[in-house]
This record gives sequence, structure tokens and C-alpha cells, in this order.
Amino acid sequence: MRTHARAVVVGGGAVGVSTLYHLARKGWSDVVLIERAELTAGSTWHAAGLLPLFNMSYTVGQLHKYSVDLYKRLPAETAQDVSFRVTGNLRLATCPERMDEYRKYCGTANTIGVPFRIITPGEVKELWPLIELGGSASTAAIIGALYHPDDGHIAPADLTMALRKGARSGGAEIYEHTEMTALERTASGEWRVRTPQGDIVAEHVVFATGNYARQTGRMVGLEIPSIPVEHQYIVYDVCPELERYRRGGGRELAVLRESDQSYYLREERMGWILGPYERGAPARFADGVPDWFGKSLFEGDLERLLPHVEAAQRRVPSLEHCGIKDIINGPIAYTPDGSPLIGPAWSVRNLWLNEGHSFGITAAGGAGWQLAEWIVEGEPGIDMLAVDPRRFGAYAGRSYLIAKNEETYRNVFTIHFPDEERPDARPAKTSPVYDKLSRLGAVWGQRYGWERANWFAPAGVERSDRWSFRRTNYFEHVGNEVRLMRERVGIMDLTPFTKHEAVGPGAEAWLNGLVANKVPAQPGRIALCHALTPRGGIRSEFTITRLASERFYVVSAGAAERYDSDYLRKSLPTDGSVLLSNVTGARGCFVVAGPHSRAVLAKLTSAPLDNAGFPWLTGRAIEVGLATDVYALRVNFVGALGWELHFPIEFAHHLLDALFAAGAEFGIGMVGMRAMESMRMEKSYRMWGTDLTRDYSPFEAGLDRFVRLEKAGFIGKAALAEQRARGVPHRFATIEVHGVIDADPLGNEPLFAPGGPMVGRTTSGYYGHALRKSLAIGYVKPELAQVGTQLEVEILGERKRATVLPDSPYDPENRELRA
Ligand SMILES: Cc1cc2nc3c(=O)[nH]c(=O)nc-3n(C[C@H](O)[C@H](O)[C@H](O)COP(=O)(O)OP(=O)(O)OC[C@H]3O[C@@H](n4cnc5c(N)ncnc54)[C@H](O)[C@@H]3O)c2cc1C
Repeated sequence: MRTHARAVVVGGGAVGVSTLYHLARKGWSDVVLIERAELTAGSTWHAAGLLPLFNMSYTVGQLHKYSVDLYKRLPAETAQDVSFRVTGNLRLATCPERMDEYRKYCGTANTIGVPFRIITPGEVKELWPLIELGGSASTAAIIGALYHPDDGHIAPADLTMALRKGARSGGAEIYEHTEMTALERTASGEWRVRTPQGDIVAEHVVFATGNYARQTGRMVGLEIPSIPVEHQYIVYDVCPELERYRRGGGRELAVLRESDQSYYLREERMGWILGPYERGAPARFADGVPDWFGKSLFEGDLERLLPHVEAAQRRVPSLEHCGIKDIINGPIAYTPDGSPLIGPAWSVRNLWLNEGHSFGITAAGGAGWQLAEWIVEGEPGIDMLAVDPRRFGAYAGRSYLIAKNEETYRNVFTIHFPDEERPDARPAKTSPVYDKLSRLGAVWGQRYGWERANWFAPAGVERSDRWSFRRTNYFEHVGNEVRLMRERVGIMDLTPFTKHEAVGPGAEAWLNGLVANKVPAQPGRIALCHALTPRGGIRSEFTITRLASERFYVVSAGAAERYDSDYLRKSLPTDGSVLLSNVTGARGCFVVAGPHSRAVLAKLTSAPLDNAGFPWLTGRAIEVGLATDVYALRVNFVGALGWELHFPIEFAHHLLDALFAAGAEFGIGMVGMRAMESMRMEKSYRMWGTDLTRDYSPFEAGLDRFVRLEKAGFIGKAALAEQRARGVPHRFATIEVHGVIDADPLGNEPLFAPGGPMVGRTTSGYYGHALRKSLAIGYVKPELAQVGTQLEVEILGERKRATVLPDSPYDPENRELRA
């Protein structure tokens, strides 16, 4: 066995072997994989082998598409068959909301280049003759379906063996029956992977240990947010009707998914495999896989599956005539949002995760492809935020994971509404004024474990959402909140913001090396700064306030806490010249904004608030009421006169009461996240994580004024200079969509030249309540970004006329925020 390697991959399931294969393909031949048992011994051997391309996420969709394309070419490349049956994939709809979901998905599929068709019930019957179209009291009528002609199913073990062959031919080595028992740092900063067969010293280590992720992580003190859940499928005996149909020349039937009944059905040796996603499937192995489990399965629990079996029998009556041969019940790794964990581990260097895969056969190809890219090139080729392991924080502990993973599992097939907020494991993290805001009608949502008020239901209005892809019950109330903030004064509780303080003689130079803008040179000044990737994409967005000559307050998105904290910490100078502290939990944040915000605050502070005393883009510590050391920042994300008040958390109640008392005469009220979304769209404010990602540079995003190419070196500078010389491939655009009656754009819609080809994609969309316009923002080919350009945007399957607007269609001169 080798004693040294460039990288060691731990875990020989489909995901680990794909990672090894892709590292070898990138030219790293001195890489090894160790597997505690045999290859495929984890979940891979008992997977049903389905390869669904369907996924609502732009990132995951791209990974799945890559996999399907790779699996088709692997046999030729490796001379190893993978038993890929391209049967197609049929997803049924029995209600209009489901059709909306499919149509929304089609937008994403279009932008990724995944072929699909929306088909009629008649076409369903043609494709799937054994189906009952329904329409009776017991079986809902099929009203349409989504058809993917290109996917199907594969043999997971064959796939793993083909990847193994490909990896080996690139020089990689695989050691089975070799368990990592410990992982240590060497004095020189490499990894020492301990195994009973000897140690391997490596620069990089990848964890791809599936159900073992919990115990693997604990070897280096990481609580990896993945806990498996039981998942079952039923294997049926030969089905006489199916056999007759096939012997009569019928082609293999497409994999069938009746989403509204939460099951899939596929052919298997003239019989069927039926796989439900049922209620009550328990999380397992929260503290690790016990030694005795090995390659075992759990006992089948038919009782739990029965409602789905009965539904399937109603839809495919011939199922009643075949006996059950077997029930496979195995652990399937889950994460709280159902997407895998692909990317760097937090707090340790050169440790990579490819864990938490619940569709790991489908994702293996894409996950290995992008992780290898990240390890070898230093960054992935596509935006990976949706699967980045650091999208979860320390809040994702054992109890949270059990509750959320079970919830995610039973919701695999529920409709993925864009405004959906799932109830389990909540409330977890709350602002101190949570109860007060509840009494004011807050309808809560959750992000990064935090409760955030999406909107406030006025007295007498039901405090809940009716989720939809269209305008729904809260539309009018969100509009009222927008008008409150635009016309009078409102408060938003943005306590979840990520907040760091960087202090010390090296702080300015360090921050300047990380971001494209110049960090403020004068105490009291604020700058919006973007940390870029080496290729010039946007990694993070920070609002940096210089509080004193060697003290900076760094604010970023609430959901970026671990993502940004990890980055900042790992890039700190080693000479001790900067002290970084994460003060997210120590400070709350209220935004007070609107034309009367100055008058409200003036009642509570002796600090000057006029333009001369407190200009736009400045910030300082002031007293507000009884609250001391409040960092008041004259910036906000809604484009109104206003201040963000970042206060020591213990003043939260006092401050809210004081603001309400001072604002009563102006009709002050609370404003939620959905109103903020509407207002930031009206100002063309780009949102980190959706509009600003590593897929686009700040030049493409139209953020040229936040880039100082003349500044001494910063990460991404060379790539930006090159892009400026070459010309940008896309341009940011704000777009008005015409003729919208009830379905506004939401992001991820394809943009077309009128009657012509696709020319870009939206990244966000919302209704601008003050402008009374349906708005989208996104990226188009540069020549189409001019104001007045006519485009078309596809919303829920309908092409709508659209026009490119000037940036910041609401108050383009910023008169209100500078008032
Ligand atoms: C019943 C069922 C049906 C499924 N059907 C599908 C499907 O149709 N399509 C689909 O895409 N997905 C399906 N899945 C999910 C799929 O099986 C998994 O997502 C996939 O197998 C995960 O692969 P992996 O490589 O991440 O993990 P695994 O296959 O579990 O591999 C992890 C490996 O790591 C090894 N290991 C752990 N710790 C160590 C250590 N310390 N040292 C060395 N080795 C170690 C383990 O022995 C194991 O072999 C199904 C799952 C179940 C349970």
C-alpha cells in the first residue's frame, strides 16, 4: 500500500469512486481510495438505480445532467457496461398546482439544457398503455405530465465498477478492506490517514462515507449535517400484463412517478419496483453506524408503505396481480434540505466533503466532477452554493437533523412551492423580540435556522400563507408594507445578518487583499465590497464600516455565516496582526427606513442625523434611547432614507418599544422579508447567493463602481482585468414583464429574443408594489442589455413580453435615500 498520495478519498460508494475517477481525469495520478469493506458496500449496492433529471435547483440540475451524459459515454470509454436503460421518465400531475410546479421546473430545465416535454393525458396513455387515467371517486384524473425522454435507470454496482476502471486507468489506486480509523495533522500540515494496514500521508482528504458521515466527521471534530433515514422499495414478481405487453413488442415503460401519491414505479425483470416516500420513515444512526450493521438492511415495514401500494394499484391495476418478492429497506443519507454536501469542510484546510447524498447514484457523476475541479483548480466550475457544506451552521445539531431530515424525506414528492416554509424543528433561532413580532402578526419563515417574519398579517387576517406559484393571500398585505416603508416609516428585524469585527494593525491591508472595492479609508465611512474567486466570480458580499482606525465591522448575508466566517478565518494573516471575531449572536439589527425615519430616530438620539452630520454611506456608534454602543449605519437594502441599527442584543426589547413609541405619530409599523424583496427589486439591488454568484463577475453584474482595478493585488484581479480586455460574456439587466395577471417571475426563468432563441436567464423576480410593475433581474447577452430592448420571458410555460429598464427603476437618482 502507498504511504503517500496527493489525495485520499475515503469511501468506495458511487460518489467516492466518481470523485477518484474525476481526480484522475484531471491529471492527478497519485490518488488513492480506501474502502472499509468492498466497493458499493454502503448504500450503493441496494439503490434502485433511478436517474431522475428533475430537480428544482439550478446547481443540482446541472450536476444531474452531467451525470446522465457521463453515464452514457462511460461504457465506450471504459469497456464496462453500466446497464443504463434510457426508458424516459414520466411525472404525473393530478392538480393544477402540480402542473405549475412542472412548468416552473421547465424554466430551469431550459436554462440548463435538459430536454423535457409537457404532455397531455392522451400522450401519457400512449407512452404508458398499462396506466389508468383516472377520473373516478377513488382515482384522481391525470391532467398532464412532465416527460423526460433522456433519463432512465442504471445498475449502481456496474456504474461504480466502470468508474473504478476509468480511475485506475488514470493511475489511481483502490484499497478495499482498508478502514480509516483516525485522521491527524502532520507537523508539516499534511493529513495522516490511519488504517490498520498502515498510514497514508496526503495533501488532501475527501470524505465520501455515506451513512458513516457522522462518525467520520467526528474524527476531526466536525458535526457533519447528514443523518440517514430509512428508505424502502418493494420488488414484485413477474406481472402477467406487463409480460404480455412486452412480449407483444412493447418497449420498456418509462419510469413512472405519481408525485401526488408520493411513489415511483419501474420495470424490473417483467415485474416492478415500487418505491414510496412515505410518512413515518425514521432517521437512523444519528450517532454513527454500529459495527454490526455492515452490509445489512433493515426489516421491511409494509404497513408504512400500504397507502402508496394501494394508490399505485389504482393507477396501474395490473399491479394487483403480482406478488411481492422482496422489500429492500436501507439507510439513505439525508440533509435538512435534501441536497448533498459537496465542497470544502469548514474550519480545517484541505479536507473535502462529498457526503449527504440521497440521490447519490444520480448525483455521483456531477458531484465527483465539480469536487475534483474544486480540489485541483482551487474553485469549482459552476456556482455550488446550493450544495456547499457550509450552507448549514452549528445550529444543525443532532435533534435538528433528525427532525428536518425526516421531514425532508416525507416531502420528497410534495409540491415545491417557492414560498414554502416547512414547520419542523422550529422555532430554533429567534431574535429576542420574536414574541413581540408574533403579537404584531408575524407570519414566520426560516433561513439558516433563524426565524424571520415574511410578512405581518393585520388584525383579523389569518396568520398563514397559502403557498403558490402565483400571487396569493399575502400579496395585498406585502403591498401595504411596501407602501408603509416608501411613504411613511417601517421597521425590519434583520438580526440574522452575519456580523464580524476585524481589529488590528493588519486589518485594512488584509481586507483590501480580499475584496475588489477599496475598504473605507476614513473612520465612519462604509463601502460595499465583494470578495471574488480567483476566476473573478463573486464569492461574498460584505458591507464594511470602518469604526475606528484599526477596527472594521463586516456585515454579510445571514445565511452566509459559516460560509463567510470560514473564508475570513482561513485567509487571516498568520502574523497575528488581525483579530477576527464573529459577533453575529451578540448584535441584533433593526432597519428603520422611510421618509419619516429621521424624525423617529431624532426623538431617541442626540446624534446629528441631517445630511451634514450623518451623510449617506457613513456609520458610527451612537446612543438610541437607553441603548448604548448602537452601530448606526446609513445604508439599507430597500432604497429609502434610513438606518440599520446594529445594537448589543440585550437592548432589543427596549429599542423596539422605543422606536414604536417614537414612531406612533407617523404610523410606524413592521415590514417583512417579502416586502423587502419587492423593494430591493425596484432598486435593482442584487442579492448575494441568487443574483451574485461565482457564475458572474462584478462586471457582468454591473457592479463596476465597486471594483478598483488600480488597487494593489486582490483575489480575482487578474481574471477581471483579462475579462475587461476580452469583453464580458453577459450583462446584468432589470426587466419589466408585461401582461402579468397573477404569476410574477421568481427567478430561473429563461429569457428569449422575441420569437427567437434563448438569450439569458432571470436570477430573481417579484412584483414591485410601489412601481406597480412585475419585475425580474438577470443576465443577458451584452448586446441585449440596453434600456428599451424587447425580450420575452417564460413564466409557468407562457411567454410574456418584457422590456429592459434602466437600473434602479424606482428613484433612479437615489433622492429618497440621500434625502
Ligand atoms: C433503498 C434505496 C434505494 C435508493 N435508490 C436510489 C436511486 O434509485 N437513485 C439514486 O440516485 N439514489 C438512490 N438511493 C440513494 C443512493 O443509494 C445513495 O445516495 C448512494 O448510494 C450514496 O453513495 P455514496 O458513495 O455517497 O455512499 P455509500 O454507497 O454508502 O458509500 C460510502 C462508503 O464509505 C465506506 N466507509 C465509511 N466509512 C469509512 C471509513 N472510515 N473508511 C473507509 N471506508 C469507509 C462505506 O463502507 C461505504 O462503502 C437509494 C437508497 C436506498 C437506501
